[in-house]
Amino acid sequence: MPEAETHEPGLRRGRSIRYRLLAIALLPTLVILPLLLVATMARWETVRCSPDSKVNADLTIAHQYLARILENTGEHLSALTGSVAFREAATRDGGAGLAAYLEENRTRLGLDFLFLVRRDGVATEPVGLAGQGRLRTDWPVFDAALAGEPKTAIDIFSQQELAAVSPELAARAKLELVPTPNAVPTDRASETRGMVVHSASPASLPDGKDAALVGGVLLNQNLVFIDTINDLVYRAASLPEGSQGTATLFLEDVRISTNVRLFEGKRALGTRVSAAVRQTVLDEGRVWLDSAFVVNDWYVSAYEPISDSFGRRIGMLYVGFLEAPFARAKTETIIGIVVAFLLVTAASVPIFLRWARAIFKPLERMTGTIAKVEQGDLGARSGLTDGSDEIGRVAVHLDSLLDQLQQRDRDLRRWNDELNDRVAEHTRELELANRQLEATTKQLVMSEKLAAIGEITAGVAHEINNPIAVMQGNLDVVRSVLGDRANDLSTELRLIDEQIHRVSQIVTKLLQFAKPEEYAGYVERHHVAGVISDCLPLVQHLLGKADIEIERDDGATRQVLMNRTELQQVLINLIVNAIHAMPDGGTLRLVSRDETRDGHDGIRVDVEDTGIGMTSDVLARIFDPFFTTKRRQGTGLGLSISQTLVRRQGGALTVESEPGKGTSFSIWLPEAN
Ligand code: ADP
Ligand code: MG
Repeated sequence: MPEAETHEPGLRRGRSIRYRLLAIALLPTLVILPLLLVATMARWETVRCSPDSKVNADLTIAHQYLARILENTGEHLSALTGSVAFREAATRDGGAGLAAYLEENRTRLGLDFLFLVRRDGVATEPVGLAGQGRLRTDWPVFDAALAGEPKTAIDIFSQQELAAVSPELAARAKLELVPTPNAVPTDRASETRGMVVHSASPASLPDGKDAALVGGVLLNQNLVFIDTINDLVYRAASLPEGSQGTATLFLEDVRISTNVRLFEGKRALGTRVSAAVRQTVLDEGRVWLDSAFVVNDWYVSAYEPISDSFGRRIGMLYVGFLEAPFARAKTETIIGIVVAFLLVTAASVPIFLRWARAIFKPLERMTGTIAKVEQGDLGARSGLTDGSDEIGRVAVHLDSLLDQLQQRDRDLRRWNDELNDRVAEHTRELELANRQLEATTKQLVMSEKLAAIGEITAGVAHEINNPIAVMQGNLDVVRSVLGDRANDLSTELRLIDEQIHRVSQIVTKLLQFAKPEEYAGYVERHHVAGVISDCLPLVQHLLGKADIEIERDDGATRQVLMNRTELQQVLINLIVNAIHAMPDGGTLRLVSRDETRDGHDGIRVDVEDTGIGMTSDVLARIFDPFFTTKRRQGTGLGLSISQTLVRRQGGALTVESEPGKGTSFSIWLPEAN
């Protein structure tokens, strides 16, 4: 199989599997793990650690702290009104020591004011109050206390109301407004109102009239309060490094207490909140959880509205922290995770690749082996002997299959060779049989022809014999009638005699050829040289016509056993053919030798000429009766008769010839014993 098919173009051999395995193994690490990480981080942030949720929790803590302050203030007042000391101070000497008592407790409880209010709205004798004036008595906390319920709320006191309580308080509340970008535009230059933790507790007086003990804390510029909230919410290490927690109390949109710094460490009191926050929190009464630009930086912020005892939204509580460090911390975390992931990948991928190679190696060996086998190397084996894992087992299996394959291939080849041998053998036998058949057919044809010729010749010869006998008889009659006169005609009569004799001789010869069994003459021993010498005068006239030289070499010592006339006939046939083959002259060699063939002693006679020779086509047919190339001159019987005569004596007539060079006929006859 072509290289291309197993090692496909550019191939992909093995690689596709390698990459697929790699993908399978690395998918969890490279794709799913990062996705999981991202998802986990996202979820973790929303659930636990997002800045928004943290700031929300912070706001809750601040809110609870504020509520706790309200609660504590109320409890302190209730404890005071219920105490024996209070009652004693109120009753003894017609309440002369009450003022001192209340002032003492105001200081102790950290209140900005503390006094007793009667139902008719008249305050007690000035108690702990620097200023004098008519106090407002329509506060819901008063009403509740006079009705017997202690109550604490946050209320907004106007400048006059504050001044009525204490001019010092009014002064402390006043804040210059700082122009703030993004805030709702305003004409006011200062904030003179005060935000107050306002608490009232029912108190019974010795005269039996109802009264309420009222106390409060001004929150404007109350830095202790706001720093406490900040410390509580943003304890050490609760924020990422570099971040900063902030808490602020707003009266409407004005920062009246905050730890947010302006420049040079100055607190940002008097600055105002952005219009967007104001809209959401104060106007709509919703909690704001988002980043907001606070004074001079972005903060993750939480604002919630604060309502007074009338249920009006009169301010906001804010907590928040710088956003930038959080974002930085988040980025650092992500970078850390990514770096860790890359490190893990960088460490694990080579390890995986090494393991993977241990898997691919045998696979590649097997692929290579299969490719070799496909290219014809049936002896190729993967050579893996460790069958402990699946691939190893496949390799061992593959090798054993290849063994079987090779064995089958060998068997097939052997069978094929055997088959080929057998076919070749049968073909040879067939060829041989064919040749034999051909030869036999040839012989049969020749025998048939000879038989037919024999029949015809015999008939013709008998027909000729009778007229000849008549002619001979009549010639004798003519002689006897003529008597002595016959001498005058002696020459003519002798010629007639001779010719009649010749005709009779020819007829006899024909009959000898046709029915050799009947006409075979007696056989005698001869030296061949003598017979050759007797033949030459008979062909003398032919030799004379063409310029032919005769060479003789009579080396034979043995004698042959054959009818002399027949031997002569064979020799004359061959000599005449040789003369015919040399019309322009040449050399006729007549050689006789003793020769032993196949263990039989015999004599060989060669008749060689330097004539025209024969092509192989002619050579193949010269012993056929009637085959001639001489048209009218020849009968085509000479060689077939000669062969018949020689074979009858147990001899053989063979020929060698080359066109243009000459021909050599050989007669071999067994020796006469
Ligand atoms: P014929 O001589 O009447 O043709 P043969 O049987 O004697 O018949 O010879 C058959 C043929 O063999 C000849 O016609 C001739 O073609 C060929 N042949 C025989 N002897 C020779 C020879 N010595 N050289 C060349 N051709 C020969
Ligand atoms: Mg002839």
